[in-house]
Amino acid sequence: MTDSIPSHQSVVTRFAPSPSGHLHVGGARTALFCWAFAKGRGGKFVLRIEDTDQKRSSDAASIGFVKDLLWLGIDFDEGPEYEGLGGGAHGPYFQAQRLDIYQRYFEQLLASGDAYYAFESADELATLRAEAKARNQPFRYTGESSRAMAPAEVKRRLAGGDAAVIRFHTPPGSITIHDEILGDATLPEGEVDDFVIRKADGFPTYHFAVVVDDELMGVTHVLRAQEHFNNSAKHIVLQDALKFRRPVYGHLPLIFNPDGSKMSKRDKDKVLRKAVSEKGLTAPPAGTVDPAIFSAWLKDKNTQLAIDAAQTLAQAIGAVLPEINVDDFRKSGYLPEVICNFLSLNGWSPGGDVEKFDREFLKKSFDLSRVVKTAAKFDRNKLLAFNLDAIQAMGRQDFIARVAAHGRDMHPEFMVKLTDAQFRSLCDASQERSKTLDDLFRTNTFITTSDDDLTWDAKAIAKFIVAGEPAGAVHLATARTILQECDEWTVSSLEAALKPFAESLGNVGKIAQPLRVAVCGGTVSPPIFDTLAILGKASSLRRIDRCLESL
Ligand code: GLU
Repeated sequence: MTDSIPSHQSVVTRFAPSPSGHLHVGGARTALFCWAFAKGRGGKFVLRIEDTDQKRSSDAASIGFVKDLLWLGIDFDEGPEYEGLGGGAHGPYFQAQRLDIYQRYFEQLLASGDAYYAFESADELATLRAEAKARNQPFRYTGESSRAMAPAEVKRRLAGGDAAVIRFHTPPGSITIHDEILGDATLPEGEVDDFVIRKADGFPTYHFAVVVDDELMGVTHVLRAQEHFNNSAKHIVLQDALKFRRPVYGHLPLIFNPDGSKMSKRDKDKVLRKAVSEKGLTAPPAGTVDPAIFSAWLKDKNTQLAIDAAQTLAQAIGAVLPEINVDDFRKSGYLPEVICNFLSLNGWSPGGDVEKFDREFLKKSFDLSRVVKTAAKFDRNKLLAFNLDAIQAMGRQDFIARVAAHGRDMHPEFMVKLTDAQFRSLCDASQERSKTLDDLFRTNTFITTSDDDLTWDAKAIAKFIVAGEPAGAVHLATARTILQECDEWTVSSLEAALKPFAESLGNVGKIAQPLRVAVCGGTVSPPIFDTLAILGKASSLRRIDRCLESL
C-alpha cells in the first residue's frame, strides 16, 4: 500500500506496459530510455503493470514482460515482485490491485463537482456519435443532461443497479502540453470532452489510473511513445483537478520498418501468408493450427493467427518470421547488450561518431535533448552487423558459455546429444561464422538427427558422391577403411590418419566433401575433422555406410 507520496526531489521514471502480449522492441526502447534517464541521475526506475483492461491482460504476459526486461539488463527499483526484485513502498504495482486507491480519488472528484455519473447506454452514445457525424462534426461528449440530473435521481439509479460510468468534467479553456522533446502544443477549447474516468465495470480508464499512479509513485518524468502525446492533455486537466504535480513529459518517436510501415505483429502475419500461398497450402500441416482457425484466417486477410500458432505453422513449413518482440530476438540468438545498444540508436544518439557503447555509457550519456522528433527506422542489417561484431570480439570461453546458455534455453535436445568436449569443439569451429548465438544450432541440425534418419541432399550426392573419375563414392569407401582403423578419434589424429590419402589425391577437398555429404547430408558443416570428431566413430561410420548403401 502507498505509504507516503514521494517528493519530486530525485528523478523517478516509470515504464507502464499493458500486458496484452509480448514486449515489443518499441516498448523495450521506451523502458531502456526511462531506465537510463533515471539511473544516470541517481534516480529510480519503476515498473508498473497497467492491467485495467481485463480482457486484454494476463498474468503470464506480465511475467513475460518482467523476464524480457531483466534479460535486457533493465532492472527496476520498484515494481512487481519477481525473483528478489521489485516490491517497494508505493505498490501494489498491478493497477488491477489498486481499485480502492482509485476509488478515493473518484470520490474526491465527485465531491468537488469535477466528475459526475453518466448513464447513457452504448446505443444512446452511438446515436449521439451518428448525429455528430451527420453534422460533419467530431463527437464531443458534453453531458449537460447528466450533469443536470438531481443527486437523488443519480442515487436512485445507482441503487437500482443501472450501468453508469464516471466522467470528468473538463474545464473550459485551451490546454497546453509542454514536451521536452516535441516542444509545446496547445489544444483548443472543446478538443478534450468530458471523458470517462471510471468504466461501468468499476475499473478506472487508462487516463485516470495513469495520473493517480504517477502522482502516488512520485514519477517526475514521463517518457513514453509519441502515440500518447495527445493523451497528455487529459492527464494535465486531471492533475490540476486533483491538485497533483505535473511530471515532465517527453514523447519518444515511434519505431518504423525501413519502408515506413509500423513495425508490428502484422509483419509476421504478412510473411506467413506469403509462405502459405507460395506453398499452395489449403489446409494446415497436422499438429500445427486448428483447421477451422486456419481456414478462417486464410479467408480474411485482416485477421491474424495467435503468435504461438503462427510460429508453429511457420516452423512446419520452413518459413522464417521477422523478429518483432524482445523474445523473438532472444530466440534468434541476439545478445541483450547488442539489442540495448542498437535500440538506443533508434531515436537517440550520443553525438559524434560514437555508435558502439554499453549500458553504463548509455546511463551516463542519455538525455532528452538528443532524442529526435521523427520516427526511427529499424535497420535489421545493422543490428545483425552489430551482433556479428560483438560475437567476433568475444573471447573463446565467453562464446562457449553464452552459446551453451542459449542452447540450454532454446535447444535442449541438441545439448544432450553432445559431450562437453564435443560441444566445445563445435563452438571453436563455429565462432568465426556466427552472426548470432543461434547460428550454430540452425546450421548443424545433422547433429540432432539420428544416424538412421539422416537423409541426403540429392544435388550434393550427385556432385560429390556420384560424379568424378573415380567417383567420390570410391574415395569415400577408401576413407572409411582408414577411419575404421583409427583408435584415437580426435581432430588431430583423424587429420593425421587421412592426410597421406588426401595428399595422394592432390586435393583435400576430394575426400573432405564426400565425407561431409555422407555424415551431414549436405555441404555445410564445421571443418570436416571437427565434424567427424563431434559425431564420434560409431556415428560417422554408420552414416558413411548408409550413404554408400543408398546409392
Ligand atoms: N499502458 C500504456 C501503454 O502500454 C502506457 C502509456 C504511458 O506510459 O502512459 O501504452
